[in-house]
Amino acid sequence: MKDQTINVTLSTEKKQKPQSDQLGFGRIFTDHMFIMDYTEGQGWHDPRIVPYQPIILDPACMVFHYGQTVFEGLKAYLTKDEKVLLFRPDKNMQRLNKSNERLCIPQIDEEFAVEALKQLITVDKEWIPSAEGTSLYIRPFIIATEPFLGVAPAKNYQFIIILSPVGSYYKEGISPVKIAVENEFARTVKGGTGTAKTGGNYAASLKAQEVATAKGYSQVLWLDGVEKKYIEEVGSMNVFFKINGEVHTPSLNGSILEGVTRNSIIQLLKHWDIPVVERRMTMEEIYQAYSDGLLEEAFGTGTAAVISPIGEFFWRDEKVVINNGETGPLAKKLYDTLTGIQNGLVSDPFGWVVEVK
Ligand SMILES: *Cc1c(COP(=O)(O)O)cnc(C)c1O
Repeated sequence: MKDQTINVTLSTEKKQKPQSDQLGFGRIFTDHMFIMDYTEGQGWHDPRIVPYQPIILDPACMVFHYGQTVFEGLKAYLTKDEKVLLFRPDKNMQRLNKSNERLCIPQIDEEFAVEALKQLITVDKEWIPSAEGTSLYIRPFIIATEPFLGVAPAKNYQFIIILSPVGSYYKEGISPVKIAVENEFARTVKGGTGTAKTGGNYAASLKAQEVATAKGYSQVLWLDGVEKKYIEEVGSMNVFFKINGEVHTPSLNGSILEGVTRNSIIQLLKHWDIPVVERRMTMEEIYQAYSDGLLEEAFGTGTAAVISPIGEFFWRDEKVVINNGETGPLAKKLYDTLTGIQNGLVSDPFGWVVEVK
């Protein structure tokens, strides 16, 4: 795979690029995309960069019926001196393979996938927005394309990467969200697909999200699917709590998705000598810490928002207001540092940033 050359077909017409204040999230796509095919017996083949276009699929394709698909999400950033930086892309390709393993999708060559991504970004470099807080969101994904209604791992797949310029997540500066603790629905359970980044987990989450939105909450906090007792994660983010000077986050228990941001935050905290503990935690004890005045901060972590401070939890008909509903100093410092590293403004002692040349 490593030696395969990527065939490039350039688009003859270039789309108009949006103004930076019209970017939003995930609705605008660049001029090109990457595709390669998998055929049983042959492996992954025909890697190519082609003009962005619809894909034509047989209605019997297995992805439509049984959801055999995985995805990733990461970003490219344009620095002030026009360098293009990726943040830990190897971690995303590693995780893609972990998801592949769970969904019975054949492994990809991780190094080749990063290389393909770099070539695609180079072709569409002009699409990377430069305004503060903006970036190029990268969506690699794999779908089962074999036309067959039987339930089995497919014999054919497509691996596709698309790119979407995205606006600043926080238009008026980093600000806290309100979260409803979910007591009825479950996203996944241990042994399920929670540790894989796969569409089905999101399909399962929509109903709870809809109910929470109607009540004025922007996301849900998932508890474990069995007892609804242990804290798992928030929407598409991992979750952290600062309690009495220590930072706590749920340990990877077999149903939580291991975020690249989560891993980076833990390393940053250790680097700063701030105590950080990965452990099983209950909503009950968070409430107790809140009642005792020890719950200092809470925040979610993920590629899209990087850090999302949590100003309020709604749990069992009670409002748990954290830090007066304002962004806490630790969340702010983590946000500034991580986005600074990602944008090449702050030194990167971890070697996380990879330049696209
Ligand atoms: C992608 C995702 C995250 C965050 O992962 P990052 O690598 O930090 O972006 C957290 N939870 C779920 C369910 C996810 O799908």
